[in-house]
Amino acid sequence: RFEGISMAPPDPTIGVSEAFRASTNERKLDLAVRAYRTEELQPYLLNVVKKAEMLMLERGEHREYLPIEGLAAFNKVTVELLFGVDNPVIKQQRVATVQSISGTGSLRLAAELIERYFPGVKVLMSSPSWSNHKDIFNDARVPWSEYRYYDPKTVGLDFEGMIADIKAAPEGSFVLLQGCAHNPTGIDPTPEQWEKIADVVQEKNHIPFFDVAYQGFASGNLDADASSVRLFAARGMELMVAQSYSKNLGLYAERIGAINVVCSSADAVARVKSQLQRLARPMYSNPPVHGAKIVTNVVGDPDLFNEWRKEMEMMAKRIKSMRRKLYDSLTVKDKSGKDCGDLLDEEYSLPS
Ligand code: PLP
Repeated sequence: RFEGISMAPPDPTIGVSEAFRASTNERKLDLAVRAYRTEELQPYLLNVVKKAEMLMLERGEHREYLPIEGLAAFNKVTVELLFGVDNPVIKQQRVATVQSISGTGSLRLAAELIERYFPGVKVLMSSPSWSNHKDIFNDARVPWSEYRYYDPKTVGLDFEGMIADIKAAPEGSFVLLQGCAHNPTGIDPTPEQWEKIADVVQEKNHIPFFDVAYQGFASGNLDADASSVRLFAARGMELMVAQSYSKNLGLYAERIGAINVVCSSADAVARVKSQLQRLARPMYSNPPVHGAKIVTNVVGDPDLFNEWRKEMEMMAKRIKSMRRKLYDSLTVKDKSGKDCGDLLDEEYSLPS
């Protein structure tokens, strides 16, 4: 009976949002908003998205079901955007790409694949990581543990700790890595550090599992932000990548993304893809079409693609300048010589 159901714990970010709404401080800033905002604090609809939607209206595109693996044209552009058109993994048809329900749904689909075909194999994730990662693997009944990542002493990457923990994990574990713009720390390894991470992952026969939710958002450049993933792929490793278009195209509510599994042969690709479809069918049957067509239209049209790159660069630059301003404002001393950051701490401290 439903009477026996107890209350689920609240999402940790909800407390922050509620405290924000309750605060009467006119200098308050909502840092838990999870989405890009304009200078006027409004959601931003990208011009290229508007244009792509106009094209869809003009063409009178239908809304019939997509196949379980999603829109073929979307799957083609999304894998090309991730690896680069000329990447050998694409040329050799070594990637199984399935459109899924944005980043979260793609991660969950991959988690189901792990649960079914790698029973008992652990996923290693950074400490800390995006809060939903743990819940995704818990609900898919995939065991996980953490590797050191954030070092509060240096407010930077605990690189030695990270390497040691990846080395110490049982051979053949999945190593969850965020391709760029690590959530929640904002700290990414340097290219040299990525090489060393790839060395240990390879040495230990681990399987890299990338979460790419911010391609283009970190540096403003789509290729640069995919370089971590490409570096691993160039070593001929098998790997997985979950992609999301929530942030870089502002398509949050369209739930558009993909799971890509790089295999050793085109044969394995066909088998993996068939299993991903089998897992998706009883979960959500088939993915939504609208966002898939927007992405396909933007990436597939050279003019729109260029315009997107400019808009993304603008957003990335603005995020950087906002972070700078926030840092400067928090560290500046007020007239009494008091650190302004202390004022924030006094008023509201984050729940642990
Ligand atoms: N992965 C990371 C690291 C994220 O920060 C997010 C969103 O905040 C996601 C995945 C998934 O987002 P979505 O399901 O909207 O694509």
